[in-house]
Order: sequence, then C-alpha cells, then structure tokens
Amino acid sequence: MNLKELCKIASTCVQCPLHKSRTNVVFGEGPENAKIMLVGEAPGKKEDETGKPFIGMAGRILSEILHEADLDRSQIYITSIVKCRPEGNRKPKKPEYSTCIDLYLNRQIELINPDIIGLLGNSASYALIGKKNIKQIHGEIYNLNNREYMALFHPAAALYSRVLLPQLKEDMVTLKKVTES
Ligand code: URA
Repeated sequence: MNLKELCKIASTCVQCPLHKSRTNVVFGEGPENAKIMLVGEAPGKKEDETGKPFIGMAGRILSEILHEADLDRSQIYITSIVKCRPEGNRKPKKPEYSTCIDLYLNRQIELINPDIIGLLGNSASYALIGKKNIKQIHGEIYNLNNREYMALFHPAAALYSRVLLPQLKEDMVTLKKVTES
C-alpha cells in the first residue's frame, strides 16, 4: 500500500469517536520520500475545514520557522497524531491517538522512512516516545526502535509564549543538521 491508498482509507475512517465531529480528515501532506517528518497534536478549525495540516495560525508560525531554518516546507512531510479535529480543540484522548497512530501514523512513518521525526509539542512527544516534559527534553535526539526522534515546542505554544520562539528555531536548525550528517 502507498500513501495515497492509505489516505483514501483514512478519509472514511470511523474507528474512533473523533470522526463524528470532523468535516475533513487531515491525513498529512508532503513527499513520500521526505527526509523530515513533523508530527503535531491534532487538526484545528482551519485544518478541519480544508483537510490540510498546519495552515492556521500555528501553521503560519511553523512556515516562518522552517523558512528561517532554511528548510523547504514542501520537502517535509507534515501530519499529526490524530487526523480528525477534536471538538473545541481539546486534546486528543489516549484511545483516540493510540487507534490513529496504529492505523495511520505508524504506516506513514514506515512508508516515508524519514531520517528524523520532529515531535511538535507534549502530546506528540508523549504519544510517540513517552516523554512529557518538553521544556526539559526539547532539542535532544531519541533513538527508539531504530528511528530518530526530536521533540520541539509546538508552534502554537510559541505563539502564546514568544520566548519559546528562538528555542524552537534553534531546535529546527539542529533537526535539519541531523539530515545533513
Ligand atoms: N496543530 C496541530 O498539531 N496540527 C495541525 O494540523 C494544526 C495545528
């Protein structure tokens, strides 16, 4: 199965309660041979309306950071731990993200086989590497089951707390260097 086929299956998914409130499934976007994958928490309102990841306010910050780190957004695969928007932008619950990761994210990772996976925020970091305290672990590289991960602040967190912005940029530059070494 390729990414397109997996995306088609996801587009009609009813495997967790989040399907009830979604408008569109936000499967992810980017090339199948991307060296970098970025994984966020969950689609927001704009993403739900359009089916595209990170296009709202957080997406604008993300694009700015990628640009400043001299990374081409179109060369990165961008997705989230759940593909459907939780109502009121609440955090996805464990059974929701576990189901979605099993069915889709793990398969996306296998198909893309990136050099590194950037985990944006505590939710993605906890769901994939079991680490919650992003203030302590951001910017460090974790090797788990032969995959490299790095937790970074979520762009939305940097939006609310501007002091995090330079740190997020620095971590993005470190992440880029991993793909060049
Ligand atoms: N925040 C996320 O974590 N994912 C998106 O797709 C949009 C905003």
